[in-house]
Amino acid sequence: MSNRRKTGVRNAYRAEFLRSPEWFARRSRWFRKQVRLRRPLVCAACGRLAASRELELHHLDYSGVRFVKGGWRAFERHDDLVPLHPHCHDLLHRLIDRDHVLAFHRSRRAASGIALQRLRARLWAQEIAP
Ligand SMILES: [Zn+2]
Ligand SMILES: [Zn+2]
Repeated sequence: MSNRRKTGVRNAYRAEFLRSPEWFARRSRWFRKQVRLRRPLVCAACGRLAASRELELHHLDYSGVRFVKGGWRAFERHDDLVPLHPHCHDLLHRLIDRDHVLAFHRSRRAASGIALQRLRARLWAQEIAP
């Protein structure tokens, strides 16, 4: 399965899912749980503190997303959703899409982990640059 964002039938499902009320409810639950776990709301790429309305959630795994009896169900595990600024989220997907190995030969979880590491290194390097 490819990790590319805008190709394939699976991605059409995802695009639809990401606009569904089930996803918005899942998103709210994620932020409430994050607070309950006393984990800070920080972007996983740039590391900056952010408000929930400023963050998107990236899926490390879509196996919790199911279409059951005509409706979407969101059973993602908490730690399979990663908070990112929209801009940082875009950069992450670009890193994955532009790397043939990450886009086609790694699981989504592995590709995301590798791309996140690269992105953090890049953003931190920019930060300390004069
Ligand atoms: Zn960020
Ligand atoms: Zn994403």
